[in-house]
Amino acid sequence: MSQPHLVQRLQGFGTTIFAEMSALANETGAVNLGQGFPDTDGPDEISEAAIQAIRDGHNQYPPVLGIPSLRAAIADHQQRFYGLTFDPDTEVLVTAGATEALAATMLALLETGDEVVMFEPYYDSYAAAIAMAGGVRKVVTLRPPADGAGPYVFELDELRAAITPRSKLILLNTPHNPTGKVFCAAELRSIADLAIEHDLLVVTDEVYEHLVFTGQHVPMASLDDMADRTVTISSAGKTFSFTGWKIGWVCAPPALTVAIKTAKQFLTFVNGAPFQHAIAVGLNLGDGFYESFTADMAAKSERLAAGLDHAGFTVFEPEGTYFITTDIRPFGESDGYEFCRTLPERCGVVAVPNVVFYDNKPEGQHLIRWTFCKKFEVIDAAVERLKTLA
Ligand code: PMP
Ligand code: GLN
Repeated sequence: MSQPHLVQRLQGFGTTIFAEMSALANETGAVNLGQGFPDTDGPDEISEAAIQAIRDGHNQYPPVLGIPSLRAAIADHQQRFYGLTFDPDTEVLVTAGATEALAATMLALLETGDEVVMFEPYYDSYAAAIAMAGGVRKVVTLRPPADGAGPYVFELDELRAAITPRSKLILLNTPHNPTGKVFCAAELRSIADLAIEHDLLVVTDEVYEHLVFTGQHVPMASLDDMADRTVTISSAGKTFSFTGWKIGWVCAPPALTVAIKTAKQFLTFVNGAPFQHAIAVGLNLGDGFYESFTADMAAKSERLAAGLDHAGFTVFEPEGTYFITTDIRPFGESDGYEFCRTLPERCGVVAVPNVVFYDNKPEGQHLIRWTFCKKFEVIDAAVERLKTLA
């Protein structure tokens, strides 16, 4: 629906699917497996650190790059998990979640008409951030495995064909929302080689970096010859189960970090001073925290996958993230949006239609996404209700 006051480049963005589906869940009392947010808070140590930071008076504007202890913790985390070295004073920038990091990156790096090569399905804010920056997206489709088993795949030739003289950067998300795909080292290498060949930057969104159940997370910046041309974006929301705090970050070479900071300082300038202190504590937690977090979410993923399979969906098992994608065609239906709109009245559950994450709508119209970042009893309640689907 067109909006009379909205600029042309934002027409069609409307209300995000996550807000729409959460509102539907609230109205109907359905179990909400749509929007990806946990129903349990993160570790007490982290929330206590935020409360303490408020009591200690960390309530005024923090530095625009982020507080030094958080930048140091981000750099240490990159070193500890991936062997990556970033200078906390020149190569780390704290942002208002990954969402602001993505927007600031596009605003800083794209001239009007510059093209961004990216995969579909894609997280919704990518398209809006590119549009706000005057860029143009060129999508390459990730497809479910033909036999239903194994991860989503893409054709390297399609990726090559999407690159033109106007291409400025490749935007990548791994682990990938909504498919649950974790790009393997060989896939990343093939993408990196194209970036080098065509002198493109790579922007990677790694907000689910600690939610990998099969394989391992490989940051693009860790590949040979890629650190100089990669902007790595992540966020505390998913890793520490505090999605409302909106503390994210960018790690990139100094010249890229300065450029992104220039845009960022006129979006929010800064945010979340006490939360920055708390996330520094979180990033420094021992390996035990990270291991048990991943194991808990892997178990939830398996529980929901088994339930969806039992209910009759074709399930594409995720390698990571918060999400499982299923095919609804075994129910004799193919319109995922309509399926999700009517699911609350049919059986009291909310999911998200993947079609909204595609430019090529037929590729995704029969696919829907479920989140499992919920208590086991909530997952079980949803599965129980789904059994009544004919
Ligand atoms: N990227 C992806 C792939 C996401 O799923 C999300 C949603 N959490 C974001 C970015 C936004 O992250 P944040 O809440 O830190 O802005
Ligand atoms: N990232 C979350 C998801 O994909 C939602 C974030 C949002 O509502 N903007 O469900």
